[in-house]
Amino acid sequence: MAGPGSYRPLLRELRNAASPSWWVQPPGGPRKLWGVLTMLLHNAWLRAREACARRLGRQPQVVCPICGFAGQAFLTGLRSNWRLRYGRECPQCHSRERHRFLWLLLRDRYKIEDWLGFLVHFAPRAGERRAILAGTRAWYLSADLDPTGMDVCLDVTSLPFRSGSVSYVICSHVLEHVTDDRAALAELRRVLAPDGSAFISAPLFGESTREYGRADGQDHEHVRRYGRDLQYLLEQYFGVTVHEVSTEYDAQTVQRYRLMPGEVIYCCRP
Ligand SMILES: [Zn+2]
Repeated sequence: MAGPGSYRPLLRELRNAASPSWWVQPPGGPRKLWGVLTMLLHNAWLRAREACARRLGRQPQVVCPICGFAGQAFLTGLRSNWRLRYGRECPQCHSRERHRFLWLLLRDRYKIEDWLGFLVHFAPRAGERRAILAGTRAWYLSADLDPTGMDVCLDVTSLPFRSGSVSYVICSHVLEHVTDDRAALAELRRVLAPDGSAFISAPLFGESTREYGRADGQDHEHVRRYGRDLQYLLEQYFGVTVHEVSTEYDAQTVQRYRLMPGEVIYCCRP
């Protein structure tokens, strides 16, 4: 015998068929408005607190290694689902945790200022691009499928470079958007010089990768959600060194630069 729960699909169907305007919530409507308003208010409060702290000569609590901003807190930003990202974004260069970690790693451990040769950076943010351009002597090329603000439009699965001609690659939070990530890795392996390095990262969740099969609008248009097994995939193409925030830096440094302890960057070499 059918219980009350069995009627729910029917009810949903009826509601969808009727489609009254009050029933169908516009995508991001009230939630977007609420997110934007609370973000603006929160940031207004943070800016006022920053101004007071400066007047009182208070010691800075956070520092951005990319642009040199030093203050009481970073600003709050919005996620694509309109939820708030508290105290994560640099007010000067708009860097987030992952940009600051990448920059610290390249500057301190991999001595980016000494790099020579050819560096390809996929999908950098403006602040990140400026910092790396200013911080290295390598010939720098920024690239993305969307050429807005980039030097060139490039598809990471089909690069117009000779084999072994690229000295450095930075490919941060790109592979989760690429339908054929194996083709991208094979192509990066092909173009990388024998003594070159590729710095690869992606948002990681749990141990195992989950394929969506298509770009998921609920998850930043990603085509998959990588787990920590991304390392094993990379190891099919490269020799991999794993750098994780929590093992690279002490708690004080993590707090000072507002890094994310679980963030990982893979240094990949042929
Ligand atoms: Zn900054």
